[in-house]
Amino acid sequence: MAANFVCPWSLVIPKRSQINYGIGMREVRFFSGLSVSAEATESTESPLLPPQSEADRGKLTLLLDLDETLVHSSVNKPKDKKPDLEVRIEGGIFYCFVRPKVSEFLRHLAKKNFEVAIFTSSTRDYAEQVIDFIDTEHIIKHKLFRESMAETSYGYHVFMVKDLATLGRDLNRLVLVDNSIFFFFLQPNNGIPIKSWLGYDLPDEDPLQDEELVQILPLLDELENVPDVRPLLKEKFNSEDQHKRILEEISEADR
Ligand SMILES: [Mg+2]
Repeated sequence: MAANFVCPWSLVIPKRSQINYGIGMREVRFFSGLSVSAEATESTESPLLPPQSEADRGKLTLLLDLDETLVHSSVNKPKDKKPDLEVRIEGGIFYCFVRPKVSEFLRHLAKKNFEVAIFTSSTRDYAEQVIDFIDTEHIIKHKLFRESMAETSYGYHVFMVKDLATLGRDLNRLVLVDNSIFFFFLQPNNGIPIKSWLGYDLPDEDPLQDEELVQILPLLDELENVPDVRPLLKEKFNSEDQHKRILEEISEADR
């Protein structure tokens, strides 16, 4: 592997002392030494997404995370398993496995009233190859990559988020499905946390038995029919309290 190789999903902000608490798998890292308050940003004048197309107007916008939500990639080639895709980017190859039922999941969304987009913390060169592979029917309308991530903080902890207020969509009708709960830290009631899928890197589980994607379809269908997704997601997941509880545990561990 080349010396300058950078993992496409690691979010390392240089020049700060870094503590990885392992929350949110590989994507979320915390940093110590900063003290600013957490608050959502205002909607930007230049939203990250273009206006909804004529065909998608009024549809619920569904953002899907990529790694550990729809696929799992590793630099280590499994000895006895053939990857679904080999992703070649500058400096390295990633062996990518697709989560079971991804095609079925996307096809269901296409049949219903969803504007489907990917919002990934991975780099564009890696993620575009993966998206092209899983989305043969062109159901995914928009793609947002690492450069669209924002930085925020809570107490002494600074971390990367997907700031949903910057997308140019009404938060009433916007949902993010992500295995990293902290990526919807700023808009906790717009997120659906999904169990991380780690392919064959979790040897004690059969990755092909995973049903998580199809299991959230009834909830997505329900959300598609409500004027504001947030009360329902707050009631179901209460992610804000989970965020606070985890951060308090981390702060306690820091002492
Ligand atoms: Mg992920």
